[in-house]
Amino acid sequence: MFKKNLENLRAYNPGPSTDEIKQAYGLERIVKLDSNENVYGASPNVRKAISEDMLLPELYPDCRNQALRLELSTRLGVGPEHFLFGAGLDEMIVLISRAFLESGDSIIMAWPTFYEYYCHAQIEGATTKRIPCDSDGKHDLNAMFEAIDPTTKIIWVCNPNNPTGTYLNAEELNDFIQRVPKDVIIVLDEAYIDFVTAADFPNGIDYLAMNENVLVLRTFSKSYGLASFRVGYAIGGRRVIEEIDKVRPPFNNPRLSQVAALAALKDDAFKDECVRKNNEVSAMTTSFLDAKGISYYKTQANFIFVKVAEPKKVAELCKKNGYLINAFQDGVRITIGKMDDMKELLMVLDHAIKEMSPEPSK
Ligand SMILES: *Cc1c(COP(=O)(O)O)cnc(C)c1O
Repeated sequence: MFKKNLENLRAYNPGPSTDEIKQAYGLERIVKLDSNENVYGASPNVRKAISEDMLLPELYPDCRNQALRLELSTRLGVGPEHFLFGAGLDEMIVLISRAFLESGDSIIMAWPTFYEYYCHAQIEGATTKRIPCDSDGKHDLNAMFEAIDPTTKIIWVCNPNNPTGTYLNAEELNDFIQRVPKDVIIVLDEAYIDFVTAADFPNGIDYLAMNENVLVLRTFSKSYGLASFRVGYAIGGRRVIEEIDKVRPPFNNPRLSQVAALAALKDDAFKDECVRKNNEVSAMTTSFLDAKGISYYKTQANFIFVKVAEPKKVAELCKKNGYLINAFQDGVRITIGKMDDMKELLMVLDHAIKEMSPEPSK
């Protein structure tokens, strides 16, 4: 009755709701630092735009997302035909996998990186080569290149990488893109690009003109604070975009999502202010961790990966204190919160780490 490909998969587990956690732990307030959402909210223009919208609930939305498409095209200097929109990048990952993968194919991705790349390869019956990140938490591009074989269809490059926050610089990425065979799709997931400050960070769009096999992914969920509206997009060569469009459900961005994204996009000042505050709190965070001798990966995003011995226990202790963070195999990923919240969380984290690893007795 069931599909063989789904045998080893489990549905996404969101865990208890914030209300349930408040109840269970007797907390008045929960600070959500587990999903890299924008802790400063969204542009006030968004509320205004959606309240002034004609709504038209009975009509299907614009299946081309034309207004947003044209605005992005102008801002990014890429022709409108090079864009494809999804219900968040989550759906874009589904569509790319659906369009390119079949049984016998394989994908290459880093580890750890964004889990959905694996999940949708699996659903399509393709296999996954997970290439461990290097000791700095960066994609190991040499090993990823070495892993290419005739079954390789897609290489997922998450830059900056979720959950490590690290980035590949222009020189490293240029070299990699030049070496990879042109019949392998390279997806550059740039969900966090707006937070980047490094001068040598490569803008994926610069690769598009010369490389028909490169796709760039961007989203309104993180820096624009619109995770609830589900708008993400791919930019790529005409032929590749056309191919993915074949598997896209035509009305995948609701009208209000299109309106919200356009309003958010036009408010540069709000986004810039979020990014500025993020950098400020990020700097405070790394000084604190440095002072305490706690190790972490250098981040270019709105989250930081802190290496701890017992990630699950540390996350649990933070939760008891009202802070939700995310546990991974060898550390915790913390969304960089507002200044005051982050200062308090860091105290909690420091205590938690000390509790986990008491001073060795003499
Ligand atoms: C958050 C995230 C996404 C998905 O974002 P959407 O909300 O679905 O647009 C995709 N890739 C990475 C690396 C992310 O962190």
